[in-house]
Amino acid sequence: MSVASIASIPRVETRQIDVFSPFDGRLVGSVPCLDASAVPALLERARIGVLESAALPRHLRASILEEAARRVALESEAFARLIVAEAGKTLRQAEKEVKRCINTLKLSAEEARRNAGEVIPFDAYEGSESRQGWFTREPLGLIVAITPYNDPLNLVAHKLGPAIAGGNALILKPSELAPLSALKLVECLLQAGLPPNVVTPATGGVELGRALVAIREVRMISFTGGFATGEAIAHSAGLKKLAMDLGGNAPVLVLEDCDLESTVESCVSGAFWAAGQNCIGTQRILVQRSLYEDFRDRFVCQARALVVGDPDLRATDVGPMISEQAARNTEHWVNEALGEGATLLCGNHRQGASYAPTVLEDVRHSSKVWQQEVFAPVVILEPFDHLDDAVALANATEYSLHAGLFTQDIAKALKLARQIEAGGVMINDSSDYRFDAMPFGGFKYGSLGREGVRFAYEDMTQPKVVCINDVG
Ligand code: NAD
Repeated sequence: MSVASIASIPRVETRQIDVFSPFDGRLVGSVPCLDASAVPALLERARIGVLESAALPRHLRASILEEAARRVALESEAFARLIVAEAGKTLRQAEKEVKRCINTLKLSAEEARRNAGEVIPFDAYEGSESRQGWFTREPLGLIVAITPYNDPLNLVAHKLGPAIAGGNALILKPSELAPLSALKLVECLLQAGLPPNVVTPATGGVELGRALVAIREVRMISFTGGFATGEAIAHSAGLKKLAMDLGGNAPVLVLEDCDLESTVESCVSGAFWAAGQNCIGTQRILVQRSLYEDFRDRFVCQARALVVGDPDLRATDVGPMISEQAARNTEHWVNEALGEGATLLCGNHRQGASYAPTVLEDVRHSSKVWQQEVFAPVVILEPFDHLDDAVALANATEYSLHAGLFTQDIAKALKLARQIEAGGVMINDSSDYRFDAMPFGGFKYGSLGREGVRFAYEDMTQPKVVCINDVG
């Protein structure tokens, strides 16, 4: 796989990162492995990018983003195959990600045109009647974007799109495990007319990430990834804006009056989509006791029926995890939970990086699989008697991105939505629903700030007030 935008990465380093398919280990592509020594060259280029980007009028920012969306659409098939190859998502899941990326770019184009600032009502209170004015949304300057492996295209678009719409330049460090889709997206932006230095791709690992975070003239770090990495970045970033989308441990509440068939189907998808490597993937399903056995039997039956295997095949439901090591770690956590008293209802088979959909019950609340983000095709079922207990269990996590709940009773649903501490509560949906225009993030350690195009755009711009004192 050759990606032309690699040519635009400043070459100060001869080492390479080889990207392998998590499914069969074949070599998918190679990118330069930059480290801290690359920072001066990256910065030199990015400084020009800051000027180039700020000089783009809004109509050009918008038309470049629209044209990039069109180019991604034209190359949908190639993008989807690349996501499958480097990240192990199944073809159907990759195709969905490509469609979402196109929307993210289009939404960013709209934001560039629409969200330029506001008139300030100076006469709203006594004393400023002689003044008129407005605020504009100005670029921040240089943003460092650091992204994870699991949505290697759309999560990159969620940083590039709003940042370009806002007139910023970026240094983009995609995951070293799956950097190729990101570079191909940069290529589409360049073909669409983006000035060459607005996005500086920087491929490398943790050392490069650390060095980028420490650059003093960077105005913002926009990070998506794990909690521990987010915390490390927060410790070393210094005085910069931080936007972080971190991990989750999503609960779903199933009430006895739900529509059982669609609830089970939705929960199975929520738990095992993208082999569970999904920050809003369903991890703990709390089911009202009267429905528990029925729900459990149907859920396990559907989980067992999922086709695990080659992500390139349309029939496959669950592809591999990102690496054999990640699958081994999952196996270890599950075995630990079983040793602590959990019951295995299905799964816990591993072949290479592929890990079978695994359903557990009787899990101790002190077990890692309950407490921490599993990020794997593992889900816990647990009955509850009282709604208040279910809410307390749902809220007993620091990683509160999304939650889901199923009931036909709208009054109960709205009360629960108020009580559940999460950045998004999905009613009659699993936790795994996201629309790219909505504010996306979490409570507690789920995130710092919100993504979702408008919200990221506002975070990536700064208001500048112009005020005229009419003394005439
Ligand atoms: P990760 O935190 O290991 O890595 C993410 C990125 O950070 C990579 O590019 C990596 O090279 C870089 N990095 C690692 N250490 C760094 C450091 N000290 N300084 C700077 N950069 C550093 O995450 P991952 O394993 O690639 O992705 C999985 C995690 O991402 C999960 O926890 C998942 O929940 C989270 N995630 C969150 C969202 C969200 O929107 N909330 C979306 C997707 C993934």
